[in-house]
Amino acid sequence: MSDLTHLPRVALGFFPTPLNELNRLSQKLNGPKIFIKRDDNTGLALGGNKTRKLEYIMADALAKGTDTVITAGAAQSNHCRQTAAAAASLGLECHLVLGGQAPKQAQGNLLLDQIYGCHIHWAGVNRKGEDIPALVERLTADGKKPYVIPYGGSNEIGAVAFLAAYKEMEAQRRAMDVTFSHIVFASSSGATHAGLMLGNKIYANDCQIVGINIDKGERDAVAFDEHIVALANSTANLINSDCQFTRDDLILNSAYVGDGYGVIGALENEAIAVMAQTEGILLDPVYTGRALGGLLDMIRTGQIKSTDSVLFWHTGGAPALFAYANDLHTNDLEVARKD
Ligand SMILES: *Cc1c(COP(=O)(O)O)cnc(C)c1O
Repeated sequence: MSDLTHLPRVALGFFPTPLNELNRLSQKLNGPKIFIKRDDNTGLALGGNKTRKLEYIMADALAKGTDTVITAGAAQSNHCRQTAAAAASLGLECHLVLGGQAPKQAQGNLLLDQIYGCHIHWAGVNRKGEDIPALVERLTADGKKPYVIPYGGSNEIGAVAFLAAYKEMEAQRRAMDVTFSHIVFASSSGATHAGLMLGNKIYANDCQIVGINIDKGERDAVAFDEHIVALANSTANLINSDCQFTRDDLILNSAYVGDGYGVIGALENEAIAVMAQTEGILLDPVYTGRALGGLLDMIRTGQIKSTDSVLFWHTGGAPALFAYANDLHTNDLEVARKD
């Protein structure tokens, strides 16, 4: 078994996150068994999957003597919000390069970014960090030691965090004496997916790692496939594991991207309403709403059977709900009644 612990890690969140069974949701769907991994409860800045990655990435930044971190994302980036909080708690200066323009009023994640006191740079169409090199140059010229955190925290270090997350889940699964046929989650920058794939192989579970693609509309889906596989392989190298993956090992379901990243439709509205009204759990409009919407469809269409046992990995994001108030129509849906 590979040693997962040789990379430095700084404590930022509350782990392990709970793993619970969703009985009412299962009943409503007439099976399968559905479990949830509550990474919306990682604790830092209202939680989310980026907290796991940041525990390893920030440790690397500190080891390299940085005083300033830079990252990029959309205006409602959960990754940027958790990075801003992590930087604040470690006494680091934080710069966020955000796509779009400053809105009249900050809401959701952006509002929290401001509360955390980070420096926000508006980048127009460049929401994936295209403007970062120029910023690095400027900060360096000012005498700072900047450290660039990749888009979504998705490099090998971020993926190791999700290998560690898999290990955490594996201990909970065994203690509960359950097995999972599928682990379903939102996949967008790749490290969650790569880390879970690697964990699944190292722990030799007969379980499908199903990423629901969130973001196909604005990039080449084939390139994203290759990115995840390459990241899983380079992460295996980093931890001296001889696991290797090919495109055939990857399950990336791109059937639910709808009109693209952050465009909320009936699929997301229904999923958010179902989870809230049967289990009292909040999903987010951009990632987990789409991922659960995909899972519900896979169940309805028989791609996942009533005899299966599914783990839905909740990756966080609910602070964005407030920013999407105009697109959410969940009060029109009476989902809690039994069909
Ligand atoms: C970033 C994010 C994801 C996707 O994780 P990746 O590792 O970037 O693929 C899923 N859900 C939420 C809420 C996120 O913020």
